[in-house]
Amino acid sequence: MAQNTLDDTLLASLKDVLLRKRAEILAASTGTKPLPASMDVNSRQGDLADQASGNNEVHIQLKLKQTDAKILQAIEEALFRMEKGVYGICRDCGDPIAPARLEAIPWTRVCITCKQKQNS
Ligand SMILES: [Zn+2]
Repeated sequence: MAQNTLDDTLLASLKDVLLRKRAEILAASTGTKPLPASMDVNSRQGDLADQASGNNEVHIQLKLKQTDAKILQAIEEALFRMEKGVYGICRDCGDPIAPARLEAIPWTRVCITCKQKQNS
């Protein structure tokens, strides 16, 4: 298994970015009403439907929240990998992820090579 090759200073600053981003998403998500669990969508109560009707902003917010939720999960995973000392290792091939890529997207799970394979 590949070892973590990132230096402590970079690791600390990336952790800081992850924690800040997580706080940002959590703060944004608590500013709106909590959504019902997904299995309740088909049986949602009348007043929720009334609030949503005729309001396009609601749909835009829902879309943003889905993206945020994905990033949030990736951030949690990245922080977990930091705890384990395996942060910066590609999930797919096990090679170290380039520090420049981690600085651009600290919550990325895969190296640029594997990412390109996914897209092609
Ligand atoms: Zn890879």
